[in-house]
Amino acid sequence: PAVPQAALEGSMRDFRVMEGIDLLERCEHFFAWQDVRRQSGTWPFSRSTETGPASTCGVRDDTGTLTEGVNFASQDYLSLSSHPAVAAAAKQAIDVFGVHSAGSPALVGNTSTSVVLERRIADFLKMEEAILFPTGWAAGFGVIKGLVRSEDFIVMDALSHASLQTGAYAATRNISLFRHNDLENCRDRLVRIRNRSPKCGIMIVTEGLFSMDSDTPDIEGLQALAKEFDATLMVDVAHDFGCLGEDGTGHIGIQDMLGKVDLVMGSFSKTFGSNGGFVATNSRAVKEYLRFYSPSCTFSNALSPAQIATVTAALDIIQSDEGAELRRKLMTNILSLRSQLSDLGFETYGEPSAIVSVKMGDEALARMTARALPHVGLVANLVEFPAVAKGSARFRLQVMANHTPEEIQAAARRVHQAYLIARRELETNEAADE
Ligand code: PMP
Repeated sequence: PAVPQAALEGSMRDFRVMEGIDLLERCEHFFAWQDVRRQSGTWPFSRSTETGPASTCGVRDDTGTLTEGVNFASQDYLSLSSHPAVAAAAKQAIDVFGVHSAGSPALVGNTSTSVVLERRIADFLKMEEAILFPTGWAAGFGVIKGLVRSEDFIVMDALSHASLQTGAYAATRNISLFRHNDLENCRDRLVRIRNRSPKCGIMIVTEGLFSMDSDTPDIEGLQALAKEFDATLMVDVAHDFGCLGEDGTGHIGIQDMLGKVDLVMGSFSKTFGSNGGFVATNSRAVKEYLRFYSPSCTFSNALSPAQIATVTAALDIIQSDEGAELRRKLMTNILSLRSQLSDLGFETYGEPSAIVSVKMGDEALARMTARALPHVGLVANLVEFPAVAKGSARFRLQVMANHTPEEIQAAARRVHQAYLIARRELETNEAADE
């Protein structure tokens, strides 16, 4: 068969539990499986673009093969990473401050511009304070690890991002995962914990927009639960902050919760054209505490001057009429892609957002579709177990404001084309196997 069965079976999870006492040798088992997938074209990961996140671009896979396609695999939702004003700001910052921040924000790593950016992020979210982190990952990990002690509890949406889960497990073993977006299930867990441990701290963790399912929780309901049970709510807004809602404040704004959520954590890597993350709070004490007790802030280098300038220039645009226009363009693209995919018989997850997840289901079919995508000219990310549940593999198309109507149409048609090729090839593959 063209594609060995081994490439269509198994998952990354299998190689985390490999036996053997040699730490380095264990990697070989994974590498062998990866190579079967790589050679058969069913490993669409670790690729690089020739141009950065352009809406049509060349992509090189890790066998060195270059293909070109419409690009729905980059998270540059408002297309700000190629905006001339943003690039100019980054260049100017290098002229003024040099290329490096050269220190932790707890020491002298911040520039005067970092301090201004912290103020502006806080103001945008109608919060009192904000503190910057080197990445969104570091912010999510760090706010949990910094505030939650081993005797405390974390009540977390079961689909929370890896950075939040890793932070949680680093902080405490007392973790209770509630059913995705299920307020009642969250409440039941809080009742049980409070009955047993009236004096422990509790953090409730969720996302403003879930990064695989494109859905959103009842933020007001969760904040009310936090109040009722003397808990603290933390919301990760990595995917909606800046790009969703009329003013760009995402679901917290849409749900009229600006300034009312205990802790808001975000990333600059989706909409703000840069690495970086933040935590916003209504307490100066919390900000100061995080600076010195959140290890991924305290013991890591501050964002570089060019990154700060990039995010600040992106924020200028996000808060302007141009930003509102970019969000409208983005939403037009999103709605158009979702409706064209649906006309072709595909199911998309959740509510309209820049994340358009197209259901494939079966992993083998999804991997065969991924194999066909470069040939039909579409760059898209495959998501499979354990990033999502078994049997719910999908392509996560990420829409950008500067995708043209032609590129949107091409994406929908090419998913369909690749899917048909994959179905046909799976049949021939199975026949060859018999
Ligand atoms: N939270 C969520 C929900 C994410 O999807 C991501 C990145 N994919 C992060 C946090 C981490 O953000 P960053 O890329 O800035 O490290």
